[in-house]
Formats: sequence, structure tokens, C-alpha cells
Amino acid sequence: MYENRTQVMDEFRTRVVDFLQASIAEGTACPAFGAILPPELHDEARRWQAGMAAAGMAGLHWPSAFGGQGLTRAHSTIWFEECARADVAPYINLQGIILAGEAILRAGTDEQRAEHLPSTLTGETLWCQLFSEPGSGSDLASLSTAAVLDGERFIVNGQKVWSSNAQFAEKAILMARTNPDAAPHRGISFFLLDMSLPGIEVRPIKQMTGDQEFCEVFMTDVEMPADALLGDLDNGWAVAMNVLIDERGSFGEAGVISLGRELDRLGEYELGDDHVLTDRLAGLVGQGKALMSLLRRVGAEPTMAPAAKLMRTEMAVATHGLRAAIRGPQAMLDDDVTREMLYSPGMRVAGGSSEIQRNIIGERLLGLPKEPKPS
Ligand SMILES: Cc1cc2nc3c(=O)[nH]c(=O)nc-3n(C[C@H](O)[C@H](O)[C@H](O)COP(=O)(O)OP(=O)(O)OC[C@H]3O[C@@H](n4cnc5c(N)ncnc54)[C@H](O)[C@@H]3O)c2cc1C
Repeated sequence: MYENRTQVMDEFRTRVVDFLQASIAEGTACPAFGAILPPELHDEARRWQAGMAAAGMAGLHWPSAFGGQGLTRAHSTIWFEECARADVAPYINLQGIILAGEAILRAGTDEQRAEHLPSTLTGETLWCQLFSEPGSGSDLASLSTAAVLDGERFIVNGQKVWSSNAQFAEKAILMARTNPDAAPHRGISFFLLDMSLPGIEVRPIKQMTGDQEFCEVFMTDVEMPADALLGDLDNGWAVAMNVLIDERGSFGEAGVISLGRELDRLGEYELGDDHVLTDRLAGLVGQGKALMSLLRRVGAEPTMAPAAKLMRTEMAVATHGLRAAIRGPQAMLDDDVTREMLYSPGMRVAGGSSEIQRNIIGERLLGLPKEPKPS
């Protein structure tokens, strides 16, 4: 029995590797890009998601009734590992496949699953995440976008910001206040918003890389159908907390494979007798090896995810800074290392800032006293 199971999984891995190799050879595979789809890859990425779905490689552990393959999480793990090895994007829309998709599987009705999941897997529907507001990021429970129930619809008013890929998204996961009288985190609901509804205005923001990856989203008297509610009214906090756990990532072996490749690339630098840069490089490689152990641990102990997120993003900033230092003044202008140097600091903030990860590690993992809250 055990041998059969191993054999089945090995055969599946071979199928995945063959598919990825063929896709790379045909030029249909989209290169790995991290958490947020860069705008210039948008069309290529949508084609890749459609190709994955057509080949039965999308939604591996999602139920077949909702467009998935009805397999297990172990199959998905193999997919992620082999995509990491091939340096290919395992999905194109984190906000859709990982955040919205898993939330709908957990908290949605069968009608919501049937409506939203199949087109998410084929890439016809891209999602964005409308959580952060100009006055509410780390302290998400203070958000003020309001959704007021009015018969068969909610009327939504408010502003969101840092909404990655919102200019391309057909749908959004939205957190909005539905009960202003309840304690902050008890009066919030979680919605599946159709971005084409009248009253929604999306304004892309230009970043220092020159890209426009995220946007401001303004909602003015948007009439959102009542069945857009995911989970119970006023219970959106519980839905959102699981989404944030998914966003910080489960890592495991796929993360180790990608990091190993980065460390190999760092190891190719020949720094001669530049002892300062050599010291920085050696320090980073050491940190990287420690992070590899941590990523493996997070695969089995998801509570360690904040520590891995913190170390991964801080290391990325240090790595791209070192690459730029090795390259010299040209890196400050326009070089192949410039974009990553300018881009990486944002990842210390996206998905919960490094300071917030440190608070979580201190309070929840190490059991230290809670930090005092300003009144
Ligand atoms: C590249 C990128 C993509 C993003 N994509 C999305 C998206 O798609 N959807 C979405 O909803 N949001 C998105 N965000 C927003 C992100 O979640 C927030 O920026 C983040 O949660 C921080 O919130 P803030 O920007 O309001 O900063 P603030 O919460 O105002 O924090 C400002 C500074 O104070 C620090 N700080 C705050 N509170 C504490 C504390 N208690 N202890 C110590 N330090 C503290 C923070 O670490 C930070 O340095 C994205 C952000 C970035 C950078």
C-alpha cells in the first residue's frame, strides 16, 4: 500500500516535470515572479494560467466539482516544488488562487464556490485584495470603509490603498465595516466584490521602480449584492485572519529550492581581495543557510511563518543591496540589479511589516509581554 502511494506520487512528479519542461521548451511557461504579478507579464501570465488549467495542473487539491483536480495537498506540494526547481510561476494570482480561493473553499457556500472558483483557476478572473486603507494597515481592525445593508444589497463607501493588481482585477476580496457599534474587529465583514460595479474607481500608483503594481481604489455608493458576503455578517475578522496566514506563506521545500538557487548565484561572485564585500557576502550566505532550515521547519510548523517572512524579506533587501554594491555606481542608474534593489524594500512592508512580524514573534512565539498600546 505504502509503496503504491509512493509510486503514485513519483509518477505524478514525473508528469509535472514533463509538463513543465515541455512548457518551457514551447515558451508558454511564465517565469517565477514572487508574490505580485508584474504588469508587463500580465498577458503572458494569463495564458500560462489557462495552460496550467487545461493540462489539469491548476487547483490540484480543490474539489473537481469546482474546477479543481480533486487530488491532495501533497500533490499541490509536488507542483510547488517542481515549479520552484524550474523557476516557473506555480500560479499567477496570489490574491485569487491562494487568498480568495482558499477563503472561499473554507468559508463559502457551494453557490459561491461554483460561481468564483472555476474562472479563477483558468485565469479568466484575476483578484485583488482590498484590505489596507490610508489610515489602516498594520492596525487593520481600525478600517473605516463601510458596507451598509439595505434590503438585498450593501451600499459600500470608502477608500482602499496599496491594492496590488487592482487595475487588472475582475474581482476583489474586500473587508468593510458592517457594524460601527461593535468592538473594532467584531464589526467587520468579508466580501467577494465584483470590480465592474458602478461607483468603483481604480487609480494606479507609480512606484520608485517606475512600475504601477498597486493602486488606490475609491468606492462611492457601490451597490453590492447581499450574496457577496463570505461567511457570517460581522464575522469577517475570522475569515481575514486565515487569509493573512495564507498570505505569509507556508514555504516548505519549494521555498528552500528557490533560496538555494539564490545562494548559488551569490556564490558565483568573485570578489578578489575586497574584504568588506566578501564579509557581507559570507554573512548573507550564512543567513541563507539558517533560513533554509527555518523554511523546512515552517512547512511542518506554520506558526513559525512570521519568523520566515521576516528573515526572507530582510535577507532579500540585503542581497539586492549587496548586488548593487558589487555592481558599483551603475546600479544607481539603470542596470539589471536596479529594479530589484528598488523593489525589495516594499516586500518588508507587504503582507504585514517587519516590525509587526517582530511583535508577533515576541508575543506569540516567545511569550513576551504585549507591547503597550497608545491610548
Ligand atoms: C508592495 C506592497 C503591496 C501591497 N499589496 C497590498 C494589497 O494587495 N492589498 C492590501 O490590502 N494591502 C496591500 N499592501 C499594504 C500592506 O499590507 C500595508 O502597507 C502594511 O500592512 C503596513 O500598513 P501601512 O502601510 O498602513 O503602514 P502603518 O501601519 O501606518 O505603519 C507605518 C510604520 O509603522 C510601523 N508600525 C505600525 N504599527 C506598529 C507597531 N504596533 N509596532 C511597531 N511598529 C509599528 C510599521 O512597521 C511601519 O514601519 C501592500 C503593501 C506593499 C508595500
